[in-house]
Amino acid sequence: MGEHMTTTAPHITLTASYDICAAHQLNRPDWDSAKNRAAFGHCADLHGHQYKLEVTLEGNIPAETGMIINGYEIDRIVREKIMSRIDHKFLNKDIPFFQENLPTAEWISVWAFGELKNAFPPNCRLKKIRLYETPNLYAEYSG
Ligand SMILES: [Zn+2]
Repeated sequence: MGEHMTTTAPHITLTASYDICAAHQLNRPDWDSAKNRAAFGHCADLHGHQYKLEVTLEGNIPAETGMIINGYEIDRIVREKIMSRIDHKFLNKDIPFFQENLPTAEWISVWAFGELKNAFPPNCRLKKIRLYETPNLYAEYSG
C-alpha cells in the first residue's frame, strides 16, 4: 500500500463552550404550589444555575485555512446572539421565548439553536446545541 491522497476535504465537527450564569423559575401559574413542587422540585422556586452551553459546528476542512471557522468568530457570534441576552439574566422575564416555554434545559437548547441556526458562514453549519444545567444533566438539540 502506497501513499493515499484524498481529494475530498474531511468533514469535521468543532465545538465551543461557554459558561452562563442565569436565573430561572419553573412554575406554572395555572398549577398550585404542591403540583409545581411535585413536577419541578427545587426548580419551582426562583434560583440560579451555572449553565454550560456547547455549540457544535460542522463543515469540510478548507484547504487554505484548515479551519471551518475561526474561534474568535464563533465567540463574536455567540456573544452577540446568546451571551449578551442570557448571561446574568432572569430567563423567565428577560426573554420573550421563555414566557411561552418554561426555561428548562430542553427549551433553552431549542431557543439557542434557533438563535444560532443561520448565524454562521455558509461553509459552517450548526450541528448541535448541548446545554448543561448541572454538571450531571444536559439537553441536546439538533433542529
Ligand atoms: Zn433550576
